[in-house]
Amino acid sequence: MRSPAVCTVRILDPRNAFRAKRLEEPLSGLQSNSEKTVTVVGGGVAGMSAACALAEAGLRVQLVERRGYLGGRASSYRHPGVDEVIDNCQHVLFGCCTNLSGFYHRIGVAEKIQWTSEMTMIEPGGCRSLLGPSRLGPFELPAPLHALPKLLTASAFTLADKLALARAFSALLRPVPSDSAESLGSWLHRHKQTEGALNHFWRLVIASALNADIDAIALPYAAKVIRELFMNSAFAGSMGMSTVPLSELYAGAEEFLKRRGSEVLFNTNVEAAEWDEESAQWTINTRTGTLMSGLLVLALPFEATARLLPNMPPAAGAEALGAQLERHRHWPICSVHLWFDREITTLDHAVLLDRELHWMYNKSRLQPWRKGKGSYLELVVSASRSFAALERNDAIALAVSELAEFFPAVAAAKLEKAALIKEVRATFGVPPGIDAARPSAVSPWPNCFLAGDWTATGWPSTMESAARSGHLAAEAICNATGDPRSFLDADLKPTGLMRWMRAGNREQGSGNRGQGTGVREQGSGSRE
Ligand SMILES: Cc1cc2nc3c(=O)[nH]c(=O)nc-3n(C[C@H](O)[C@H](O)[C@H](O)COP(=O)(O)OP(=O)(O)OC[C@H]3O[C@@H](n4cnc5c(N)ncnc54)[C@H](O)[C@@H]3O)c2cc1C
Repeated sequence: MRSPAVCTVRILDPRNAFRAKRLEEPLSGLQSNSEKTVTVVGGGVAGMSAACALAEAGLRVQLVERRGYLGGRASSYRHPGVDEVIDNCQHVLFGCCTNLSGFYHRIGVAEKIQWTSEMTMIEPGGCRSLLGPSRLGPFELPAPLHALPKLLTASAFTLADKLALARAFSALLRPVPSDSAESLGSWLHRHKQTEGALNHFWRLVIASALNADIDAIALPYAAKVIRELFMNSAFAGSMGMSTVPLSELYAGAEEFLKRRGSEVLFNTNVEAAEWDEESAQWTINTRTGTLMSGLLVLALPFEATARLLPNMPPAAGAEALGAQLERHRHWPICSVHLWFDREITTLDHAVLLDRELHWMYNKSRLQPWRKGKGSYLELVVSASRSFAALERNDAIALAVSELAEFFPAVAAAKLEKAALIKEVRATFGVPPGIDAARPSAVSPWPNCFLAGDWTATGWPSTMESAARSGHLAAEAICNATGDPRSFLDADLKPTGLMRWMRAGNREQGSGNRGQGTGVREQGSGSRE
């Protein structure tokens, strides 16, 4: 039995073609959460975090994924060439990734993340510098001074580099307007950064965290990353890595959903969706059949959203969304996976300076069951279109010869097998002005919401951005269906002296809360 007159039809987003004519119109036929069905399209971090939050809120969720496993761009699979389950690329998170951590806690896998606060930089020839927080006896140095002692003693930087970095960091203590049209490259030029500071810090840190050239990065995004990773607190900058393959980590999401009566449909490619105004239902056409639900979340990368757009119902605002999608560009990340017959290094990970390779991850140490079976290293090259253009054998040969410059043990070791994974569409770029092309969770269609790392989260293309977008979409649905809930995990508070430093003109990340609701309750069509 449905309880009468408890629910309201809410105003829809003004771009919506199916716009309600009256506001706050009483509606009989309230569905309880358990009767509300939502289809989440896309089993990446965005889709999983939305699906799990909604299932927790009591909705019945079907999570639809075109591949046979969860994780999307952050996943693992059995690579046929090496007969091993490997990640498509090492994925790291940081202490400041509160929504990703929140999602991991929700699905019960948080303890599978190994955390470290130290970063070893290695020069060709093997000279090492250690970055990370320092203590004064039993006391932690207050932020942002916590990272200073190790930076000052790092041999990877000359005195001129250190002064240049100190100049830039002090400038970043002042707020950066979030609508600044300046690129990081131009800002660094204005702040007179040396070649050493550019090559050993800015290009490496930015290449990894934002995966783009410094001239193609909007200053506010760079400022956010630098403040979070190096200034706000020691914990915010600590790095986390999964101790299990990524898809094993995300199997936790599947179990979470099943325990709550929800389901995951694998190998199900969504090709089109139709909205029926009368029944307020979505019919979702997949390659293998048809699905129905009252609510829809599109948690797809920008390219897949653009492909689906022509197969969605006409709606005011759809064209504007299409124009936003066209503004996005992707950047590549490559990873070279090498198996040696012996130990190459006792380091868990390292930043590799002055070569094509950027990061080394020692998977034999990160994944405990691999111990004693030779050495499996993963080498990551960020934002390099030239490396991505190399043939497989050339890329592997280059990686092995560069690795030997950092770790002499490579020369005597036998390379047993190798794999190269090129992710040409790894991340979207964040050039100046990109925020105008990042829509909120509210879509042009009724009862349909958007998620994905590229939507308006204030974060660059990361798992944290994806998790935020999923939580924002779940909040938008719950708010709009009359069961307001908060899923967005709060940002970490800056510590030490950073408590008194403002980050920017406007806080990003929760900016798309409350922008319309876009939800039509079932049966509301007849009330217009
Ligand atoms: C090589 C590489 C390295 C990276 N390193 C890091 C890192 O270290 N740290 C970090 O935070 N981030 C990293 N990222 C970025 C991070 O992986 C992404 O930002 C994040 O995973 C995006 O999640 P998403 O859910 O928004 O999109 P996706 O992961 O792309 O998920 C979308 C899902 O939708 C599915 N799909 C697409 N079309 C359809 C359809 N029509 N029907 C049904 N399903 C469909 C896809 O198969 C996919 O599973 C990296 C990315 C890559 C590729």
